[in-house]
Amino acid sequence: MNKIKIMEASVRKWERIIAGKSSDGGVIDCPPCRIYYMLFCIGCPIAEYTGKKFCRGSPYGGWYWHQNDDHGYLRKKVFCPECLEHATAMRDFMIEIVEHLKAKKAEKDEDKRQ
Ligand SMILES: [Zn+2]
Repeated sequence: MNKIKIMEASVRKWERIIAGKSSDGGVIDCPPCRIYYMLFCIGCPIAEYTGKKFCRGSPYGGWYWHQNDDHGYLRKKVFCPECLEHATAMRDFMIEIVEHLKAKKAEKDEDKRQ
């Protein structure tokens, strides 16, 4: 699977969470984590984009701690307006990475043509 497809799957995951149709299972149902996480978080497009491992530097921390501190359920999903803000930030961040990967790919394709 290519990185753009993986990150698009991640956008869809957050779309479902925003729509209240799904919950966040963290590593278990995060498309890039399932491929890159293992124990080391190597090669994940999110880590490459932020330059940090384990989703540090992404909006995930805000979502995670809000879920932990204000809701505390095992299943992380949209419970209140603040949840929605964090989930939307996460979705937008995933879109940002998709755009970034597409731009990088376009550059590479451009190089090949020269
Ligand atoms: Zn909340």
